[in-house]
Amino acid sequence: MSALEPLLIRRIQTTGPLTLADYMADCLLHPQHGYYATRDPFGAAGDFTTAPEISQMFGELLGLCLAQTWLDQGSPTPFTLAEIGPGRGTLMADVLRGTVLVPGLHAAARVTLIEASPTLRAVQARTLGGHPVTWLDHAADLPEAPLFLLANEFFDALPIRQFTRDPAGWRETLVTASRDHLHFALGPATPLALLDHRLDDTAPGDIVEVCPAAAPIMATFADRIQRHGGAAIVIDYGNWRSLGDTLQALRAHAFADPLAEPGDADLTAHVDFQALAQAAAPCPHSAMTDQRTLLTRLGIAHRSAILARKLRGASLESHLAATHRLTDPSEMGTLFKALALYAPGTPVPPGFTAA
Ligand code: SAH
Repeated sequence: MSALEPLLIRRIQTTGPLTLADYMADCLLHPQHGYYATRDPFGAAGDFTTAPEISQMFGELLGLCLAQTWLDQGSPTPFTLAEIGPGRGTLMADVLRGTVLVPGLHAAARVTLIEASPTLRAVQARTLGGHPVTWLDHAADLPEAPLFLLANEFFDALPIRQFTRDPAGWRETLVTASRDHLHFALGPATPLALLDHRLDDTAPGDIVEVCPAAAPIMATFADRIQRHGGAAIVIDYGNWRSLGDTLQALRAHAFADPLAEPGDADLTAHVDFQALAQAAAPCPHSAMTDQRTLLTRLGIAHRSAILARKLRGASLESHLAATHRLTDPSEMGTLFKALALYAPGTPVPPGFTAA
């Protein structure tokens, strides 16, 4: 039994069943026993690997994309160069290395990381070496300045609520406890204005998910970008509209039961990009693009070939495997999607097309 499980069972026995959002929030960020609060989950020895951990090319290409967007908007100075949910800090390190030759960019950039986990903040500080960094607890703390921001595999980690359509309304997925174990239950059918817009494209029995924490975060990015300029690039697994049960637990690179080891497995859900774009309105957004298309447009084939020239044997093989993993449809290429917000009246960031 994980350390968190008896605490959750006692909480449910005291105050009643939890929404999935309450359950996920405790599993991921409980100060003593939460998944991100207690460990560095990335890499071969951890539970999952992300694109920046697979290859330096990911951060280099996204860094150049942001740099070109910054140039296209007239090189606003100073500006916030931000990442939300930076994990080990690898993506920001690659962005900084990849943009070192862009005149004026580093001098103008205030590197800002939005990170909830003290453990991961320490890892990020090590990864970024001596580079000056400001850490923020919340997106709402972002300064009033032009904002150029990346979010890779951040929104999937935010707690979701899940509803099953019923002829009489929507039944929420709840986590409840009987004696000494956790199980799922469905709450009573209730009509919900929150989901009125899903009545047209769903039928009884269909499952939809909403991520209440995502909207205010996107609205904050949109606010800074609309008033001061900038862009925000969100990359994650998901689709244009949520449909079906996408809650998943990952432990040691394998799928696990989301209720089996609360706090010891990563819990995520697919991202609803339509909901993200709507939360940012009226800030302009790009069309949703899959990762393969985005990285191809940003020049991954060329960058991969240049890096390959210096490699031999096993390191060449692992480099080519990494290129394949980031772009192939059987790997991350089409499951992962990207969306960009950008300042009104400015060009769409490179690699993206207008919505
Ligand atoms: N972007 C990284 C890591 C993704 S994992 C990569 O691509 O490798 C999710 C990250 O979001 C972790 O750093 C986690 O600690 C952070 N995180 C999760 N919930 C958060 C929240 N509510 N606020 C800020 N950071 C959060």
